[in-house]
Amino acid sequence: MRIALLGNPNCGKTTLFNALTGGNHSVGNWSGVTTALEKGTASFHGESLEIIDLPGIYSLQTAAPEQAVVREFFLNYEIDVLLNVVNCTNLERQLFLSTQLLDLGIPMVIGLNMADLLPSMGLQIDENALEESLGIPCIKISAAKRQGFDVLLSALCKEKNKMRETENILPLGAEARYEKIKELIESCLLKVDPARDKSAAWDKFFCHRIWGIPIFFLLMLLIFYLSFGPPSQIFTTGFENFCSSVLKPAIKLFFFRIGLQPWLQSLLLEGAFDGVSSILIFLPQLLILFFCLAIMEASGYLARVSFIMDGSLSRFNLSGHSAIPLILACGCSVSGLMACRIIENPEQKRLTMRALPFMSCSAKMPVYAFLCQSFFPKRSWLIIASLYLLGLLTALLTARLSRKKPEEEHNAWILELPTYKLPRWRLIANNVAVRCQDFLSKAGTAVFIASIVLWFLSNFNMHLQPVKEIASSILAQISRWTLPAFSLMGCGQWQIAVAAWAGILSKEMIVASLAVMGVDTQLLADLLSPAAAGAFLIFSMLYTPCIATLFTAHKETASFSFAIKMAARQFLVAWFTASLFYHLMSVLVSKNL
Ligand code: GDP
Repeated sequence: MRIALLGNPNCGKTTLFNALTGGNHSVGNWSGVTTALEKGTASFHGESLEIIDLPGIYSLQTAAPEQAVVREFFLNYEIDVLLNVVNCTNLERQLFLSTQLLDLGIPMVIGLNMADLLPSMGLQIDENALEESLGIPCIKISAAKRQGFDVLLSALCKEKNKMRETENILPLGAEARYEKIKELIESCLLKVDPARDKSAAWDKFFCHRIWGIPIFFLLMLLIFYLSFGPPSQIFTTGFENFCSSVLKPAIKLFFFRIGLQPWLQSLLLEGAFDGVSSILIFLPQLLILFFCLAIMEASGYLARVSFIMDGSLSRFNLSGHSAIPLILACGCSVSGLMACRIIENPEQKRLTMRALPFMSCSAKMPVYAFLCQSFFPKRSWLIIASLYLLGLLTALLTARLSRKKPEEEHNAWILELPTYKLPRWRLIANNVAVRCQDFLSKAGTAVFIASIVLWFLSNFNMHLQPVKEIASSILAQISRWTLPAFSLMGCGQWQIAVAAWAGILSKEMIVASLAVMGVDTQLLADLLSPAAAGAFLIFSMLYTPCIATLFTAHKETASFSFAIKMAARQFLVAWFTASLFYHLMSVLVSKNL
């Protein structure tokens, strides 16, 4: 007997598949189906069962690739019974797919999974009432605790080959269907003690229609204060002093003792060490930021942000689904771009991808911290928070001003909202460790190599002879050609042009390259006026994303021109905004406003 497992993502399908097949499964290729599917075997009262694990989907009417795989499977293969796995703690969203499956007329059984969680949520389900309304067996099970399998398997065997009417039992439109599902749930779901459903109580506060968004922004402001405000700066300054006054002299002494050639000493100390340590000193601040984001994610709040932001984002041609990629982009644009896979509407997906690199990724953070340290030490956390906000606004405007608008979304909100949980510290530590590892490995590889290359370019002239003054080096020479563009935003110094170009390799290189060129906070304050420093901050935030981001954009869209346009668009937007800011500030300062 062939049974196909189908359900929403995270309904516990894989857990059930593994529990039923007990490890007897393998990945099989199915002709006519583009993706390999897991197939397992089991037996029940002498009947042998072939179980196929289909991809998790929310609806049969979307353009998601998983949906296409399910359709291909249904077209090419006969199945005896369809086992629709449903997370019964979240019936309203999950039954949407079930009712669409019912319309197919295939013999079907619903497995009400995660039934073990119902008591703790103060819920009870009357499965008989549900069975009566839907006309098919609905069996409570717990895949994780292996409960209810016997009843489920015997219902599947009984249901085999039972053809059903194919008429639609519920209205076809998504909204009308949700209304009907609501009524259906009201008749079968009993809230034993609503007060015990703590998540719902918390949602009244965090997902409030009016206060939800201000609460979110206040939380973000708190995170910025903790990550970049005075308390965290103590760590950064301490670490910086340790690097420059203890570690560097110690390494220098060591090199001197072992008699290392002076040029090699300079390469390792002024090139590699200065470049890499200029990035590493911001690790404490990033640790705090990563820690706060990990808590938001593990507590279940981050998923709610999408829900809260849905209405506001729809005014910018986006939806709540775009919120998670946009927030992830605060860590790294590459992970943000990859998270766009959850967006089903293709045009909305492209718009989100287009807008996303304007957000401030963590690699831009050292640039903000470095410039703020030189120019605005007292208000740096507020300036950094404003930069994040400006990045968000630019991203939203990019989506809003797009000429090609996404089609109206008819799909109701179907993203799974997990319950609120107290964060598990081991998971948080893991999450933070992975992000830090990412950051450190970049500092150890890409930044290390690029710093050495920059050292070479800043110590030799066009005839490959060593230079005494960095101003006559290859680096200075090349960057002078592009100076006119930078002069317009008050940054007509060749060191700044070098830093900007190096930042396209990776954003950390903006600070690292300044360090290799010997530009410290003091010298930077001599090179730039505060208005120009502000313009350079804005430019750094908005301009062409790093190579890795462009590469990912190209890979995810399978379009080379998408990535090229992204690079050009961001450069122009950054240059225009920074120049405008510089001139406005200069006028204000000259009038003593
Ligand atoms: P899939 O995406 O549908 O394949 O879902 P998984 O099988 O990966 O399950 C998602 C999460 O739900 C995992 O953390 C499982 O441990 C959990 N889970 C699955 N079934 C049950 C269940 O019956 N009870 C409980 N409490 N958790 C479950």
